[in-house]
Amino acid sequence: TRYVYRFGGGVDDGGQGDRNLLGGKGANLDGMAAIGLPVPPGFTITTAMCTRYYEDGGVYPDSVKAEVATGLAHIEGITGKTFGNAADPLLVSVRSGARASMPGMMDTVLNLGLNDETVVGLASTSGDERFAWDSYRRFIQMYSDVVLELDHGAFEEALEIAKEDQGYTLDTEMTADDWKALVAEYKALVEKLWNKPFPQDVHDQLWGAISAVFGSWQSERAKVYRRLNNIPGEWGTAVNVQAMVFGNMGETSATGVAFTRDPSTGENVYYGEFLINAQGEDVVAGIRTPQYLTKAARERAGAKPLSMEEAMPETYAELAKVFQILETHYRDMQDIEFTVQQGKLWMLQTRSGKRTAKAALKMAVDMAHEGLITEEEAVARVDPAALDQLLHPTLDPKAPRDVLTKGLPASPGAASGLIVFDADTAERRNEMGDAVILVRVETSPEDIHGMHAAKGILTARGGMTSHAAVVARGMGRPCVSGAGGISIDNSAKILRVGGRELKEGDILTLDGSTGEVMAGEVPTVQPELAGDFGTLMVWADKVRRLKVRANAETPQDCKVAREFGAEGVGLCRTEHMFFDAARITAVREMILADSEKGRRVALDRLLPEQRDDFAQIFMVMAGLPVTIRLLDPPLHEFLPHAEAEFEEVAKAAGVGIEVLKRRANELHEFNPMLGHRGCRLGVTYPEIYEMQARAIFEAALIVKQRGGEAPIPEVMIPLVATRKELELMKAIVDRVATEVFAEQGDSVEYLVGTMIELPRAALKAGEIAEVGEFFSFGTNDLTQTTIGISRDDAGRFLTQYVDKGIFARDPFVSIDVEGVGELIQLAAERGRKTRPGIKLGICGEHGGDPASIAFCEATGLDYVSASPYRVPIARLAAAQAAL
Ligand code: PEP
Ligand code: MG
Repeated sequence: TRYVYRFGGGVDDGGQGDRNLLGGKGANLDGMAAIGLPVPPGFTITTAMCTRYYEDGGVYPDSVKAEVATGLAHIEGITGKTFGNAADPLLVSVRSGARASMPGMMDTVLNLGLNDETVVGLASTSGDERFAWDSYRRFIQMYSDVVLELDHGAFEEALEIAKEDQGYTLDTEMTADDWKALVAEYKALVEKLWNKPFPQDVHDQLWGAISAVFGSWQSERAKVYRRLNNIPGEWGTAVNVQAMVFGNMGETSATGVAFTRDPSTGENVYYGEFLINAQGEDVVAGIRTPQYLTKAARERAGAKPLSMEEAMPETYAELAKVFQILETHYRDMQDIEFTVQQGKLWMLQTRSGKRTAKAALKMAVDMAHEGLITEEEAVARVDPAALDQLLHPTLDPKAPRDVLTKGLPASPGAASGLIVFDADTAERRNEMGDAVILVRVETSPEDIHGMHAAKGILTARGGMTSHAAVVARGMGRPCVSGAGGISIDNSAKILRVGGRELKEGDILTLDGSTGEVMAGEVPTVQPELAGDFGTLMVWADKVRRLKVRANAETPQDCKVAREFGAEGVGLCRTEHMFFDAARITAVREMILADSEKGRRVALDRLLPEQRDDFAQIFMVMAGLPVTIRLLDPPLHEFLPHAEAEFEEVAKAAGVGIEVLKRRANELHEFNPMLGHRGCRLGVTYPEIYEMQARAIFEAALIVKQRGGEAPIPEVMIPLVATRKELELMKAIVDRVATEVFAEQGDSVEYLVGTMIELPRAALKAGEIAEVGEFFSFGTNDLTQTTIGISRDDAGRFLTQYVDKGIFARDPFVSIDVEGVGELIQLAAERGRKTRPGIKLGICGEHGGDPASIAFCEATGLDYVSASPYRVPIARLAAAQAAL
């Protein structure tokens, strides 16, 4: 097997660049070299080597040693320099590169190949002694940090002290001799912390770095990131070794990162940052404040230091040309790293850029309009889950704001929450149900779990491409970075800003779209759904087969659902209407009554209320199908739980408190979810379902007679296990319908169907379909009863189930395709056999989950039903599933 692929200088071993083998970075370096862009020569050690490295217990086959030697010879041949040669040394960078870009892994070692001898050679070939020693100390610092994993704080401290001793404030004031002295100190530090001298053998250095990259694949941080992003552990990472180019060789040198479009807004403008006379990591690390790439961006920000467009117009023009070539070649927005060495442009990386949901949407629509991609590709490009960010509220522009300071608008969206100062606390408070804002000086990959747990992230340092900004955008968390006006006292847990002090637990609001940081909570407003969003939805609807309905039980929810494009109501849970403060008393009277007669009196009081609910919903839904589910939860849910409430409720219901308590005791169940609920209520108290059926049909006729579009109610019976149950319930509904139609001298069409939410119902779907006119899969209960885990309690151990790979994802979030899925497929098949064309839908939470929607498409269901806010997500996911 071949493990090393060379690129650059006209060599292109990777051909079209297989990213599974070469990793994203390696494939694109190869790709850029292949289309003639200026890429420093190098080679990629494949992801397959990473897998083998772990299989073989951390050793390399001899063949790989030989291949790496060939790779080095390739770089030496093109650069004319020799690795380890004291007179004219070749220096390389070593970088990781998995299939998917992965913060959390060792990413870069620069200037590798420097030692006590080669540094002298570098000084003489570059004619710049200061540069050579600066490079050497950077190398020791970086290598000690990422390869030897020594405390990097110690090195930073040594540098700070060295500067202080000389009375310097900037690194640029350090002279060659100062750097030389610091190198000696660094080497002493390494010996002290590592108990061995800093490796002088350049080949040891190289293999150390290669092994560090492979080793970082199994680091805790990388594992956390993979888990959060569903990246399989088997993928492995590649290693890229490449000739160094230097952005720190004076005023005609620079280094930068750029996006071919604005990754925050999606605007078609170049976007980026660069630093003159600096090395790559300086930009990302946020050590010096970077300069703007374009003149327009600089002017917009009112910044002084010249943009690259102004400071290096020729190189900038060349770079802009490369942007065009790359976008056309990869047909997507690119995130680029480049270096300018004494006026010459070098490309160090390109990849499809991470973007906010807003930008993803705008770019997809723009690129389709530009003809760069098709409408269908545009549909495929937007992550349905990310749409969530756009559908949620933003800060009310009219609400008063107590603005504390302004930072960079690093990731859009608004969030309020309690201040916390570290990732672990963020995670803990989030688990307790608190919304938190994570406040850090800067973030590092160790903070990922806290960033995930937080509603928003605020950092004092770092630019738009800092770790915090990139990760927050990827996660869809609002983020304000580089808020220089704040200072953080981590030990006292105090945030100081503009003469004020905020403590841990104080409320903070962030606006990631403007960079504003506010004290207290600021109210929010609904998002705008026209424009690009509307366009993409139209394209999605063209390719979508599945219908999308909403789970909604109030006219207001129904309105929202229709605005989001719902094509009907898939589940109206009528019990939610019973909880209404004005009705709960009548509901409780009904429960407390000890005779059918007593119950009917209370139900008669509920009838007009339910009728009114349904009429309003039918009006809003204007002729679209509406599935109304008859009462489902166990009755004790409607009785008070807290001691304090009993007296009040007893009084309101006109009974003694002992009566109430006795009844509550009678209704108590050890396993209410498997208890007296669903159609079992209809079997024992048929008058409840009778009242509900009457309310439905009377409401339908009211709407029809008012001249509204006649609704087609779909009356749905919950928790059916047997054909006989459904038969009994359907008989009630049909009888009431006949009565109401006779009384009114008018009728509407209707259907009576059932939920399939018990394994027995799925198995006996063939028989049940003889009675039921439609099925709606209640995958919440079906998951609960199939796996035998409680939907209310299983969260406590399910995360471990996911961590240990027992389930790929939480089965209450994403359907367990193998188990629950098989029951659904079987029920669909058996149901269709009895009743060809039977309408099939899903109304559990899974109806809004993209992976589950793909399963529904594959199973050939007719529709999915999701909560109103998830309707657009479902429309897009359904379209993608159909592509
Ligand atoms: C279900 O069980 O999937 C369902 C939709 O019903 P509920 O969540 O109300 O039990
Ligand atoms: Mg259910």
